[in-house]
Amino acid sequence: MVRCTKCDKDAVIRINYANLYLCRDHLLEWMTERVRKVAHKYDMFSGSKRIAVAVSGGKDSTSLLHLLKELSTEFGFSLLGVTIDLGISGNNYSSKSVEYAIKNFEMLNVEYRVIDLKKEFGFTIDQAKRRTGRPVCSTCGLTKRYIMEKVAKDEGCDTLATGHNLNDIAQFLLNNYYNGDLLSLARLRPVSPAENGYIKKVKPLFLISEKETMTYAIVKGFPFIYDSCPHTSTVGGQTQDKIRRSIEEIDDKIPGFMISLVENFENKIRPLMEDIPKKTLGKCKICGMPTNNNREICSFCATKIKMSKEIRA
Ligand code: SF4
Ligand code: ZN
Ligand code: ZN
Repeated sequence: MVRCTKCDKDAVIRINYANLYLCRDHLLEWMTERVRKVAHKYDMFSGSKRIAVAVSGGKDSTSLLHLLKELSTEFGFSLLGVTIDLGISGNNYSSKSVEYAIKNFEMLNVEYRVIDLKKEFGFTIDQAKRRTGRPVCSTCGLTKRYIMEKVAKDEGCDTLATGHNLNDIAQFLLNNYYNGDLLSLARLRPVSPAENGYIKKVKPLFLISEKETMTYAIVKGFPFIYDSCPHTSTVGGQTQDKIRRSIEEIDDKIPGFMISLVENFENKIRPLMEDIPKKTLGKCKICGMPTNNNREICSFCATKIKMSKEIRA
């Protein structure tokens, strides 16, 4: 067994890019310190008094909840946990996800809201998969973004935190570069300020890899859903999956590849993209939320209308 670089105990993880082996206790300490440093470097929480945390019950968002809870007094914010019952029935995925999210909210004594998609908006993601004709993850992503934004605002939060990790960001970066989607690249930021009717959004785990959140979750011993969503195989299709696996393979061969890719983009490349014209935003005449390209109705309300017609038919 390899020893921890900082003490004599057995290591539970190797942090490749930092050439560190860490034991259980030093990993917990390291993760908090990592988020603290990122928060200071990107001025992540200045002005944040009440943060809504999107929690799916999986390892990343649940780790985020625990880490933010630990840092809440130091940075002076309170938390509102938000989880959505998406109505994904395979392997009881949604009911288990919500159950795990609630266990963590209660364990940490964090105020929370559970949004039931079927009860509050009239459809489930399983129904949307069968009836919208769009890739299920595209409807699901749109739904989650909309509901999180709306709940955070309705509940008086000034910031929304999500659990996107380093692997997610590296994949998003390369995928949008591959597709030549400059607008999406220009919008990729660890901190997106409140603008155009949108709330401020932060990604405190954007420099923390999936391996690190997984080990943290196991070592910390909190309950989280281990299973993947039964629709995972359709996420972004084969190309995105291959891009992600390729980046992870390169990172094994070149330690620190993902970190360099993401940090260099954020620090050196994205600032050059500030002048890229942004989408014109309108206001949805049904719900009042922002709409893309000055549309009259937002994409979520359009989906909801389509779904209610389909379900009635
Ligand atoms: Fe939603 Fe797709 Fe993620 Fe499942 S895999 S939770 S359908 S985005
Ligand atoms: Zn140690
Ligand atoms: Zn709307």
